[in-house]
Amino acid sequence: MDTDILISGGGIAGLTAAAAFGTAGYRVICVDPATPAEADQRSTAFLQPAIGVLDAAGLWDDLRPHAAPLQVMQIVDSGRSGAAPRTTARFDAVDISDHPFGWNIPNQTLRQVMAARVADLPTVTHITGTATDRLMTRQSEAKVTLTDGTRIRARLVIAADGRDSPMRPAAGIGTRTTRFGQRALVFTVTHPIPHDNISTEVHRSGGPFTLVPLPDRGGQPCSAVVWMEAGPTAERLRALPQAEFEAAITDRSAGLLGALTLASPIGSFPIIAQMADRMGAERLVLMAEAAHVLPPIGAQGLNTSLADLAALLDLADPATLGDAAMIEAYHRRRHADAKARMMGVGLLNRASMTGLPPLQDLRATLLAQMHGIAPLRRSLMRMGLGVR
Ligand SMILES: Cc1cc2nc3c(=O)[nH]c(=O)nc-3n(C[C@H](O)[C@H](O)[C@H](O)COP(=O)(O)OP(=O)(O)OC[C@H]3O[C@@H](n4cnc5c(N)ncnc54)[C@H](O)[C@@H]3O)c2cc1C
Repeated sequence: MDTDILISGGGIAGLTAAAAFGTAGYRVICVDPATPAEADQRSTAFLQPAIGVLDAAGLWDDLRPHAAPLQVMQIVDSGRSGAAPRTTARFDAVDISDHPFGWNIPNQTLRQVMAARVADLPTVTHITGTATDRLMTRQSEAKVTLTDGTRIRARLVIAADGRDSPMRPAAGIGTRTTRFGQRALVFTVTHPIPHDNISTEVHRSGGPFTLVPLPDRGGQPCSAVVWMEAGPTAERLRALPQAEFEAAITDRSAGLLGALTLASPIGSFPIIAQMADRMGAERLVLMAEAAHVLPPIGAQGLNTSLADLAALLDLADPATLGDAAMIEAYHRRRHADAKARMMGVGLLNRASMTGLPPLQDLRATLLAQMHGIAPLRRSLMRMGLGVR
């Protein structure tokens, strides 16, 4: 088979890339051993810049009805168990723009909507139940063999095959990995008090407990939770009987939304920071977690990945797709930015693990900057729009 672009990996990043390049008129084959219906308890908060990428990929109109707006972000220090919670930072999107900071969508919904979109595009072939296996490249093309023996020739391979990307070592690209000894427990809760589109990070020690708004479920207010804790503590919590787990999460959330009721199974992810040494090699680029893995703080993960995709779309030209100059330009544009975000999130994570007050303040400042609040406010002021 011949194609312009072969995408190894049809996770959220790979499917978004398939929809975007397919919409732009490129012939795309996207390969993934999993099916879109496989369970994923996570949700993804898309920050405002990511919406443009989803829109260009023809996805936003179908995703919008399933998205909860994130209007306010707040950081709460809950101190010891039972102590009164203290809000240490609060950012309201209304201060800087007519739009919310971002939108939160369950991963399960994302995968289904994205798979439906690529199925509609005549330019995209989506192969599930088969993996990419071997890679051979030369100056003019890449040849990829799938596990079922199919051979595909492509001008560009996009490796979006996750943190253990098989295409990355096949292209001779190494990684650096930092382990934090933590795990993230991920689940959905319903609660009696509405979230009012406020995303809240509650800090005590061990790691942040983040409540991210979701659309109501069964007439009940609903939120996604990411709870980061030291590995053994996380595993002990996950094994608790449901009533005890619900008591623990209600306590850890400082009771901000009332008694929390578990509304999904509990997923568990090891927390690492990982960066590929390069963003590409001959006829191949890395994107998303194949290139960089960030701890799940500040909704940076997939948003960094969509910045990869925006750069690829910008650099792609039908005449020069996948040539050495494009790969080098992509590396230069994305490597330093992804590395800087990774260091920022790593710092936030360490600050949160220790629970020391000066570090918590640094954390609040960094978080504000990562969401572009301070620079955005400054540039708006410069433009004379009178935002203070
Ligand atoms: C707990 C948690 C919460 C998060 N919350 C957020 C958030 O709110 N906002 C945000 O922006 N990010 C968030 N992230 C990060 C975000 O989920 C990831 O950045 C994103 O899911 C990574 O997508 P991906 O497509 O790169 O990887 P994956 O989702 O891992 O997808 C990789 C795909 O590659 C496939 N694959 C593997 N091997 C092969 C092969 N040989 N051939 C073909 N395909 C293959 C796999 O089957 C898989 O479908 C969170 C992460 C975690 C752990």
